[in-house]
Amino acid sequence: MIKKYINNRKLTFLSPHYDDIAFSLAGLMPLILENVDTCELINVFSNSNFIYERVSHIKLSTHLRKNEDEIAMSSLGPIDLKYAGFDEALVRNNKRSSLFIQGPKHLKKTDLLLISDLTNFLLKVPEDRIMFIPAGFGGHTDHIILHEAAKPLPHCKIYYSDLPYATDDILYINQYGIRSTQTKKKISVRVTSTMISLHLQVCKMYKTQFREMFADPISKFLKINGYQLWM
Ligand SMILES: [Zn+2]
Repeated sequence: MIKKYINNRKLTFLSPHYDDIAFSLAGLMPLILENVDTCELINVFSNSNFIYERVSHIKLSTHLRKNEDEIAMSSLGPIDLKYAGFDEALVRNNKRSSLFIQGPKHLKKTDLLLISDLTNFLLKVPEDRIMFIPAGFGGHTDHIILHEAAKPLPHCKIYYSDLPYATDDILYINQYGIRSTQTKKKISVRVTSTMISLHLQVCKMYKTQFREMFADPISKFLKINGYQLWM
């Protein structure tokens, strides 16, 4: 059970984008928050220009997404929201078609520089905090960059499966996540139907990001696997 690892500790959740912690862990958050000292969430690539189906002005996207995140996260309990202010992949001039890659081998030189900047940024997080890090399912370049940047950190680390990506078990894009978790100890948390409905309810608060087509795969995945974490 997750409780014994987090009891009375200070937690830091690393969310590549505004919605990732919600999509991956929303239904589990009340149970987590009940048992910890403090909890902060760092939205890492918090400078955004992505809203589904249309790319709007950067400032407007960032503003809309930040608003959604504040509303959604405050509905879960006391979470201290922080914004690292890094540009997400599309702002860094990546094409939508190249957002998903098969692993760090496919990262660009500029991505490697970004990884080292990010590592330096994350090293400022006090060492007594437990870091929650995306496992990298889905192969989204920003998720991989964040995962790689967290590797040298001295903190105690817990990895979470990136949803909805992890629900897709046939695509090559999950190989990175599968490989990154293979050598780690798995912690599964069983879910109740209350947890699943809370999970979906919170996901839907991310109006510019959540698609109805995610709902079924996410709830099926959670019913079968529970929340999957690794240490
Ligand atoms: Zn993401």
